[in-house]
Amino acid sequence: MSALCIVLFHVIAVMLALGSVLLLQAQVQDSQPLTTPGGQPIPLPNRQPIRATSSTAALPYATIKQLDSMYMHRVYGEVAQRIIRHALKDSLAYKRLQYMCDTFGPRLSGSENLEKAIDWVLATMKACGLENVRGDSVAVPVWLRGEESCTMLSPRVCSIAMLGLGGSVATPPEGIAAEVLVVKDFAELQGRAAEARGKIVLFNVPFTRYGVTVRYRSEGAIRAAEVGAVASLVRSVASFSLYTPHTGAMRYNDSVPKIPHAAIATEDADMIARMVERGEKVVLRLRMNAQTLPDAVSRNIIAELRGREKPEEIVVMGGHIDSWDVGTGALDDAGGCFATWKALQILQELNLRPRRTVRLVLWTNEENGLRGAIHYAERYGHQRHILALESDGGISAPRGFGFTGAPELFKVYKAAATLLYPIQAHEMFIGGGGADISPLIPYGVPQMNLEVDGSKYFWFHHTYADTPDKVDPLDLNKCAAAIAVMMYVAADIP
Ligand SMILES: [Zn+2]
Repeated sequence: MSALCIVLFHVIAVMLALGSVLLLQAQVQDSQPLTTPGGQPIPLPNRQPIRATSSTAALPYATIKQLDSMYMHRVYGEVAQRIIRHALKDSLAYKRLQYMCDTFGPRLSGSENLEKAIDWVLATMKACGLENVRGDSVAVPVWLRGEESCTMLSPRVCSIAMLGLGGSVATPPEGIAAEVLVVKDFAELQGRAAEARGKIVLFNVPFTRYGVTVRYRSEGAIRAAEVGAVASLVRSVASFSLYTPHTGAMRYNDSVPKIPHAAIATEDADMIARMVERGEKVVLRLRMNAQTLPDAVSRNIIAELRGREKPEEIVVMGGHIDSWDVGTGALDDAGGCFATWKALQILQELNLRPRRTVRLVLWTNEENGLRGAIHYAERYGHQRHILALESDGGISAPRGFGFTGAPELFKVYKAAATLLYPIQAHEMFIGGGGADISPLIPYGVPQMNLEVDGSKYFWFHHTYADTPDKVDPLDLNKCAAAIAVMMYVAADIP
């Protein structure tokens, strides 16, 4: 899950209140360009957006006025119970998650690990009998972390745990040794710009909300370079820490020098801040030999359950198959991949073929480029997608869904969510989406995300600790059940 998701939730919540998908498109296109997790703009299609307004004419369901919770329980109550029972029966999806994470390891874009994991997923999906299983080729960026270290030279010598941020340039081979300027936000950096020249700027910004705090990770190197800093460090974007640095995407612009940018653990950020506060001069030496290589080829993974009446209409769901190069991306986002994969497989195993096509996509390169998602929208955006769902907020107890789209549809899906009361995943929140489905916004596709208990997500996000033990098998099954019920109903309503 990236900064984009969070920013999008807020933009989108306001737009829902404005009452139409059309307005949403206009706002997104006119004011704030969509961006990748690293902040690069997402190209918008030339195609005219779907004119889905508050009028029911353009909505996908002919019977939309009757679609309340009574209807849902009468028509889909029994099916929902079967799906939930079936989802909780075994832990095969969890075993597959463990196998993929353990066997192939971290899955950064451009790595052999990622492509081997994709080969295995494609072969396993085919062996399960899923329909139209394929890998769509996508060019993805290649960034290699290489060797890196941070050492405090003064006031005492010790090593500082660090992780370079994805896309960062290297330091010279001997490293960069400089005094640290600690700031608590961009405003303080501006106010103390004269002190920054030749220093390493440390943004010591405590975690509040991801979308707020992550700006120091994504933009920190630009802001620090603007005032003449030689490198920048960010306090890890983490809501709790056991001395774990958190990596993630960052960006540069062409108007200022590109300086190395890395994350340190919150404990060291606090220590350095205390030392400076006491009037001690803190000197660090940062060494990084990261490099960016030419693009490589990766793949989006696609599988389907073709619709029985309107196969050309699609509900698409998925997560992202790539991860950072630390940990094994069990929560971010193997969990989302296996929950949505299992959801599709439940429908197949129960012989539940809805009216419309349910399509599973495991997007590549969400973390440091979003190229898979952009490619998907360019290639398939012209098809009639009536709903897109993403699961990229980790896997823990599901609470329900977030949704952005026409208010009439919000009511329909809110009624459908009441089918999930038995697993307490029945809430509907205004405002939903995700990085990988965001390039479908300009095509007028309503956006939904699985909402889970996120209280511990940012303990592990983008760290060496994002490993399968952080995923609970029962939660994974409940998430799959919630997604399967919602997607089945969305695809099947007449
Ligand atoms: Zn993610």
